[in-house]
Amino acid sequence: MFPKKIYYEPKALDFELGQRLKDKYTDVEWIPIKSHNNIEELRNRSNSDFVEMKKYLIIGIRKTHKYVENQKVSDYLVPYSSSGCSAMCLYCYLVCNYNKCSYLRIYVNIDQMLDKLIERSHKTDKICTFEIGSNSDLILENVITGNLIKTIERFAESGRGYITFPTKFSMVDDLLSLDHKGKVIFRMSVNPEMIIKKVEIGTSPLAERIKAINKMCKAGYRVGLLIAPVIFVEKWKELYIELLNTLSDRLTKKVKSEMFIEVIFMTYSYVQNAINSQAFPKALKIYNKELMTGRGRGKYCYKQEYRDEAECFLRKEINKRFEGAKIVYVV
Ligand code: SF4
Repeated sequence: MFPKKIYYEPKALDFELGQRLKDKYTDVEWIPIKSHNNIEELRNRSNSDFVEMKKYLIIGIRKTHKYVENQKVSDYLVPYSSSGCSAMCLYCYLVCNYNKCSYLRIYVNIDQMLDKLIERSHKTDKICTFEIGSNSDLILENVITGNLIKTIERFAESGRGYITFPTKFSMVDDLLSLDHKGKVIFRMSVNPEMIIKKVEIGTSPLAERIKAINKMCKAGYRVGLLIAPVIFVEKWKELYIELLNTLSDRLTKKVKSEMFIEVIFMTYSYVQNAINSQAFPKALKIYNKELMTGRGRGKYCYKQEYRDEAECFLRKEINKRFEGAKIVYVV
């Protein structure tokens, strides 16, 4: 059952979304908090409570609105309508600080954030792309709030440039009929099915993700494929070949001719390792001492020689199957 409990800032109920959520979740316990950033009751719980805490929903008001410049598929990272997520990918980059970033937090001041996004899109020197999904999974959040529908409709109507977001979820049906005016870039993240099941816990299966990107492309959205994060588990080359073959078989011609591809190798952190070993003691071990090296601030990444060889391998295998698709970066 989700959410099992709701922690909320009382002032959030002054907003339309806050009220709507209050009416939607009437049979859930609502617990008032001072700030979504610092929930004392949760802060002191142990790592082994991670799974339990992922069932909670936090509702607050976003106060930080600082855009950060970016040079990948977008020009700016936008702090947007939610952060964290109710899924439990063992490598999740949002688990920067267990007590603050793991569970799903929804911000009710969506109109303020959307107004700012539209206003900013008209003030840049050139046409820009705004990444609105770097702190959360907006397809998942949309099921609870409808915020993505609102964002696409209003940005298409009044924004300049593009918005983009990645996802590991397949619930896209409510977006298919929207008049997005070509201003939205949808990026589906994929991994071999074994990794989805054992590492990306609680996300959509590969077959559903493929159907979702096919549907979004058919509905006229610009699309990208994120092969990410690439994890060097046992027999990883075979698994990724199988993934590429499945994609080649099941993606529509339209997707294959229009999509771009991003490839990201996994990074991992000391904090994640501590959480995973206590919250998921039987889970697949994704930290590999032989293959990984420290990258500062408690982070690990694959050693350069392994990473370079893997990049070569993946570029070759991707190009073999998706000749027309541009690989925008491998990091
Ligand atoms: S779906 Fe994304 S945000 Fe959610 S746990 Fe996985 S990596 Fe983190």
